[in-house]
Amino acid sequence: MAHVISDECIMCGSCEPECPVECISEGDTQYEIEADVCIDCGACAAVCPVDAISQA
Ligand code: SF4
Ligand code: SF4
Repeated sequence: MAHVISDECIMCGSCEPECPVECISEGDTQYEIEADVCIDCGACAAVCPVDAISQA
């Protein structure tokens, strides 16, 4: 299991520093989560202003 970022992402960058395992990075059109590294803590989803992050 991992959290995923949808295309609703507005690239605000708020989620990236919240991740304890640093698996969020800026992609070309939206931020992305490295699924193999994500530990499903939910910290990123809690700060997303547009609710673009959900559990896969
Ligand atoms: Fe990082 Fe936690 Fe979000 Fe996974 S759920 S991307 S571990 S902050
Ligand atoms: Fe995108 Fe939400 Fe992360 Fe902001 S907090 S970069 S809108 S996924």
